[in-house]
Amino acid sequence: MPYTYDDQNIFAKILRGEIPNDTVYEDDHALAFRDIQPKAPHHVLVIPKGPYVTFDHLASEGSDAEIVGFTRAVGKVCALLGIEPGNAGDGYRMISNAGEHGVQEVPHLHIHILAGRSIGRMVS
Ligand code: 5GP
Repeated sequence: MPYTYDDQNIFAKILRGEIPNDTVYEDDHALAFRDIQPKAPHHVLVIPKGPYVTFDHLASEGSDAEIVGFTRAVGKVCALLGIEPGNAGDGYRMISNAGEHGVQEVPHLHIHILAGRSIGRMVS
């Protein structure tokens, strides 16, 4: 699937420092910040620094370093928040909305991490 990246999307602006954000974690490959409309006590968005619209876009066009770096950053955010299952945080849900059927609002890949309360069952 060919993707066209819109560099005027709100997360691109956050990455360029044009819009402030509540940063939780940052490294060479990823930025993690709190969602402006949190749906749980912890609601963090993790985004890659590269211009990828969805996870499949990153996986098909990203370098191995970008893919591994992004994946590791997601794990580091969970550890930073202390939400790993078995830890005091007791687990989390990860979601990535993609495209029209996924009801993706912002066209820059982002992983939602929701934690701090039971999120309930969405897929059985
Ligand atoms: P999507 O539906 O694309 O998966 O979710 C986009 C998320 O981005 C939503 O949860 C929304 O609250 C969040 N969001 C939209 N604009 C901003 C913003 O300017 N700052 C932050 N921190 N989050 C935003």
